[in-house]
Amino acid sequence: MAPKKKIIITIDGWSSCGKSTLARQLAKELNYVYIDSGAMYRAITLYFLRNHIDWTDTTEVEEALANIQLDFRFNEVSEQSEIFLNDENVEYVIRDLVIAEKVSEIAAIREVRTFAVKQQQEMGRKKGIVMDGRDIGTVVFPKAELKIFMTADNAVRVERRFRELFEKNPNITIEEVKNNLEMRDYIDSNREVSPLRQADDALVLDNSKVTMEEQLRIAQKWVKEKLQ
Ligand code: C5P
Repeated sequence: MAPKKKIIITIDGWSSCGKSTLARQLAKELNYVYIDSGAMYRAITLYFLRNHIDWTDTTEVEEALANIQLDFRFNEVSEQSEIFLNDENVEYVIRDLVIAEKVSEIAAIREVRTFAVKQQQEMGRKKGIVMDGRDIGTVVFPKAELKIFMTADNAVRVERRFRELFEKNPNITIEEVKNNLEMRDYIDSNREVSPLRQADDALVLDNSKVTMEEQLRIAQKWVKEKLQ
């Protein structure tokens, strides 16, 4: 029997528009690997903050990156892949607002992107992968078979993110979350290196008004078309 065709699926878009939810759903269904590229930038940010790295100094950044080892390991209990920074599981701590406040600044550094993109491309070598982020369909896998670009109304995104963060930190305010999303979107789409933009051949999915089931159905149809 001929081996089943495997493709690369990229999901890019603004902060908090449900990219990771859809990416996880698809990966589970297709038995593909899911990679949250944002987690890599968040883990690098955590390392820089903990080690007081002056990220305006290129030499210091390069030395720091040489000491960073990132890998994803599948957790059988949560049934999710989790990110490890130098053998420490940092999947939960990187979701903190302290990290979210600095991550876009750090993700805009050329050396940081070269470091992360190289690893991301390596992970996709055998295909059968769903990766979400900001530059996955444009820079990391420009030849990906299926590119999805997700959007959602600002108010919906703020509300979603607020609910997520509030569970862990009841002191958080909606204003803080809104400011953080706006700041990240601004930096991500205006940076010099690999800015967030929709790939010409991406299919747009606006999930402001669709349920999780509906968005999965839309994406499943696209996958089916690409697998034919
Ligand atoms: O996806 P998530 O919101 O966790 O990503 C955190 C940050 O990492 C983004 O706001 C962006 O600055 C950066 N990022 C990026 N390129 C990617 C994924 C994330 O610059 N491919």
